[in-house]
Amino acid sequence: METTPASNFLQTIISDDLASGRVTEVVTRFPPEPNGYLHIGHAKSISVNFGLAEANGGRCNLRFDDTNPEKESQEFIESIQADVRWLGYQWDGEVRFASAYFQQLYDWAVYLVEQGQAYVCDLNAEQAREYRGTLTEPGRNSPYRERSVEENLDLLGRMKAGEFGEGEKVLRAKIDMASPNMNMRDPILYRIRKVAHHQTGTDWVIYPTYDFAHGQEDAIEGVTHSICTLEFEDHRPLYDWFIDNLPVQSRPRQYEFGRLNPSFTITSKRKLKMLVDGGVVAGWDDPRMPTVSGMRRRGYTPAAIRKFCDMIGTTRSDGVVDVAMLEFAIREDLNENAPRAMAVINPLKLVLTDYPEDKLEELTAPHHPSREELGERLLPFTREIYIDADDFREEANKKYKRLVLGKRVRLRNAYVIEADEVIKDADGNVVEVHAHTIANTIGENPEDGIKPKGVIQWVSASHGKQAEVRLYDRLFSHESPDRAEGDFMDHLNPESLRVVEGAWVEPSLVNAQPEQGFQFEREGYFVADRFDHSADKPVFNKTIGLRDTWND
Ligand code: ATP
Ligand code: MG
Repeated sequence: METTPASNFLQTIISDDLASGRVTEVVTRFPPEPNGYLHIGHAKSISVNFGLAEANGGRCNLRFDDTNPEKESQEFIESIQADVRWLGYQWDGEVRFASAYFQQLYDWAVYLVEQGQAYVCDLNAEQAREYRGTLTEPGRNSPYRERSVEENLDLLGRMKAGEFGEGEKVLRAKIDMASPNMNMRDPILYRIRKVAHHQTGTDWVIYPTYDFAHGQEDAIEGVTHSICTLEFEDHRPLYDWFIDNLPVQSRPRQYEFGRLNPSFTITSKRKLKMLVDGGVVAGWDDPRMPTVSGMRRRGYTPAAIRKFCDMIGTTRSDGVVDVAMLEFAIREDLNENAPRAMAVINPLKLVLTDYPEDKLEELTAPHHPSREELGERLLPFTREIYIDADDFREEANKKYKRLVLGKRVRLRNAYVIEADEVIKDADGNVVEVHAHTIANTIGENPEDGIKPKGVIQWVSASHGKQAEVRLYDRLFSHESPDRAEGDFMDHLNPESLRVVEGAWVEPSLVNAQPEQGFQFEREGYFVADRFDHSADKPVFNKTIGLRDTWND
């Protein structure tokens, strides 16, 4: 599949910057906080940042924005790197950590204090809120605002040395308590947090805020275009204030675009964590999760996810994108690339009474209907086969194009058969169908006089393999679970997972590699589970149906 660089307003800005000479090289960064797994929204941000760097011959850094140690962990640091690579991107040089710049950031905080542009404030959280004012009322100056440079330097040093408790003091920029932009009302630069950090251990007991850290990290790395989502638009004046007032070595600029919010999907890490911690799903990589690792396990492909990110464009507005567009991109990719195979999910035994017990024909079928280069597979044909119970009825009207008692159907890639009788259990359920083959209905010129209308899939009972099939569907049944009435958990789709233990798959699928995707003919797209699939115990996850049934 072709992925063309998205034409978007960010590309226009970059082209102008290159043309005017503001920058000679494009440097972007993807800055996740390692406090969860990456999700589809991050995939969009990754495709924007890495995509723009790639399209403009520049580079993109991967930087962990690890300024908030409580919720961060090594597990997330590792999963994020694996996910970025899986999506098909490689960051420039080594992975970077905001925490590696803690000393430089602290030195800059000291610099601001020396310039009389930052002060230590003793207001507690509640008082600070009162002093801050509201959107319609200006704030008031903190009583600690006029402390001398010497006193501030002394107090900041003692904050760093651990002399004060959490919440007792903060370092604030001295900007403007009357600014109409709340972010400019003497924002906090440093907080006391007596927690160990996954990278810096117990070296620090004060940690910089996102606002004080982000732009300066960009400047240290020579980032030219710092791309983030719209909620940071109001922070841009502050971003620029720090860059203007600090002796930084380069001048990054911030640009914002609209967050990706697919319908039927949650993209808040906090809520995704609730699904994991509450056992609603089996983990961050549960195939129903919108996480990159969940989509991977579901059988979504990196190419299709990238294609989707391109298709939806990059805009300056936050809107909901129909999740059907993502599903469309997945289907399109798999239709083009997934080998075909046969599986019977709800098996019903069918005995071909005219077919000798010891007979075995090695039929063949193409792996793909239009891509000959993908070759063929062997399909052993035997007297006993499985068909899907939904593909048989004792009686049916003409609309039913599958097997009916006394009527004919074609077995996909094999004979036309005709059903003769049924065997029932004590409760009257059909447990076996007896049928016979129609001569001369396979090979180059099948000469069947009566062309059957239907084609159904089958698997040899003696040569096929029993498999576990996990039928996944959308996790939420509400279009916007986040905004629907009540709790988002109230809108879980009760049918998001059905496990079928006793499905049957054609023998060639025993050689399926974990993560290999297939189209099970007439059933949908499936993938061999990344962790649980083996030749001894095949496990397939349903990726997506052949058609969009939600919008029917
Ligand atoms: P959350 O608020 O759920 O914790 P976040 O946005 O804070 O998510 P980060 O790890 O800080 O998560 O995000 C890294 C980058 O990915 C940021 O630049 C952020 O703007 C971007 N990003 C996160 N979610 C989306 C989304 N839904 N659409 C586009 N970009 C996103
Ligand atoms: Mg964030």
